[in-house]
Amino acid sequence: MTSLTPFTTPSNLYPAPPSPTSIHHHLRFEQASLLIDKCQTIHHLLQTHAYLLRHGFHHHPILTFKLQRSYSSFSRLHLARTLFDQTPNPNIFSYTSIIHSYTINSLPNQAILLYHQMLENGVQPNAFTFSSLSKNCSLQLAKALHSQSLKLSLDSDAYVRTALLDAYARGGDVNSAHQLFDTMPLRNLVSSTAMITCYAKGGDLSKSQKLFDAMEERDVVCWNVMIDGYTQHGLPDQSLALFREMLSAKDVRPNEVTVLSVLSACGQLGSLESGKWLHSYIEANKIKFSVRVGTALIDMYCKCGSLDDACSVFDKIVDKDVVAWNSMIVGYAIHGLSQEALQLFSRMRGWSFQPTDITFIGVLNACSHAGLVEEGRGFFRLMKDEFGIEPKIEHYGCMVDLLGRAGLLEEAYELVKNMEIEPDPVLWGSLLGACRLHKNIALGENIAEFLVDKGLANSGTYILLSNIYAAAGKWEEVARVRTMMKDSGIRKEPGCSLIEVSNKTHEFVAGDLKHPESKEIYDMLEELNGLLKAQGYSPKTEIVLHDIKEIEKERVLEVHSEKLAIAFGLISTRPGTTIRIVKNLRVCSDCHAVTKLISKITGRKIILRDRSRFHHFVDGSCSCRDYW
Ligand code: ZN
Ligand code: ZN
Repeated sequence: MTSLTPFTTPSNLYPAPPSPTSIHHHLRFEQASLLIDKCQTIHHLLQTHAYLLRHGFHHHPILTFKLQRSYSSFSRLHLARTLFDQTPNPNIFSYTSIIHSYTINSLPNQAILLYHQMLENGVQPNAFTFSSLSKNCSLQLAKALHSQSLKLSLDSDAYVRTALLDAYARGGDVNSAHQLFDTMPLRNLVSSTAMITCYAKGGDLSKSQKLFDAMEERDVVCWNVMIDGYTQHGLPDQSLALFREMLSAKDVRPNEVTVLSVLSACGQLGSLESGKWLHSYIEANKIKFSVRVGTALIDMYCKCGSLDDACSVFDKIVDKDVVAWNSMIVGYAIHGLSQEALQLFSRMRGWSFQPTDITFIGVLNACSHAGLVEEGRGFFRLMKDEFGIEPKIEHYGCMVDLLGRAGLLEEAYELVKNMEIEPDPVLWGSLLGACRLHKNIALGENIAEFLVDKGLANSGTYILLSNIYAAAGKWEEVARVRTMMKDSGIRKEPGCSLIEVSNKTHEFVAGDLKHPESKEIYDMLEELNGLLKAQGYSPKTEIVLHDIKEIEKERVLEVHSEKLAIAFGLISTRPGTTIRIVKNLRVCSDCHAVTKLISKITGRKIILRDRSRFHHFVDGSCSCRDYW
């Protein structure tokens, strides 16, 4: 296979090359060899190649090999291949070099074809051939290569083993990777890191941590794998703790990859103080403020409830890409700042950015928050018709939210029934929520029964159905749902709220008495209750999923976690400080009403992140406009 390139010119156009034995030629060969080594750019290499051709070095095996390798290093694969094909009897070095070029350019099939050709031509592979072949290869291929290496007795070579281990690890075959690793005579940084990656990917973080701890030398890649393992598996506390450990370690400095992972952990925690600390660390340590770092900062600030900080980062990103725009649009939307989100969307279109499915999640969410039914329908169409983006479950979720909020329950129900993808429990849940709000018992029952039949009901389904009955005063039905839930064996996920005060996260569960300042917290709640009653508040007992007789008894214990967190925030921060709470579940309507009043009575801004959105409570009202 020879493709025509400037270098395939027939050699007879030039004078015959001097005899290889002449002194003159010998000197020039060394010069030529040196010239290739010194090439810094592809342009320079092409010139050198032309120069060599003019001087008759058409078939010098060593020079041809060097040129082939240099073209590969400049990612000029077709030129490297042409030279390879012109090599009369390629040896192991030529083969391995071209195989390596294909694998690092993610063309494993071509690499394998050449490997076959090589075996057919009777050239024996060596350890480098195997380690090259194993890069980027599939799990299936890794297994085949492994058995070949056993046959050729190359399996004990450290390069081969490390490459195979890496291939198994990438393919998720923990057992094979582990076996190879365990029988390695010498473990090095690369093989240990590959094994740690393998465990971390599979979520076995205790094993990867054990291996990590046992390592004598660790580089930044190794730290990053371990930190990111915790972030990716929802253990942001551990991720942050390990990052702090990394800062005190010698000989290693965090890089861009490290901070991206830790920023994501701060976002998961909703920990603004940690996020700010990391931001100043990035600035102080001159970690490059790339668009990726900027976007991760926006995302973190939005998730930690500080839109002001997110905006100022957004403004500082010079080369904004669509991901950065999306983060800011979605950020505005989840905080209920619909106009800002939509304005940003039109600015983004003004810059001719192609919106993605994420953009439309933000846009539709914004419409939903502001009750912009007509606009929402329009964007939903636009997304499909003009941008060719097929709606995903999240887009349907926004539409159901939008229509449900506006009381257009039938339209929402039709939309869900006619979806081209399978609706998920979250989607059904928001439709049920709309039924509760608009007291549409018939449709609510319909949906709930359908979900119970299909085995799709979760604790949220039962609670919503019970709330629908309670809102209509159907207490017998409430009791029936409670029995159904008990029989199904589904339990309510315990609610839990976090609040950060002076760099420490305090966690509360419902009726919690474990906090050292428990007495002060309950005293504060008592005081608040008095003030709330004076404002005409009465507890929304109907939303509690219990037998009516038990309500009195249970209510004493049923102090929801967010109330405890708010009370703690009030006693432990200075007047006027914004209180930020992160809650794992959807906030209940009683806590929502109470928090609105607390913001009015105390003059505090309270920002609450629940499972799906932010609530900004200011002076008696909430940014969600009582729909969530
Ligand atoms: Zn509550
Ligand atoms: Zn709200």
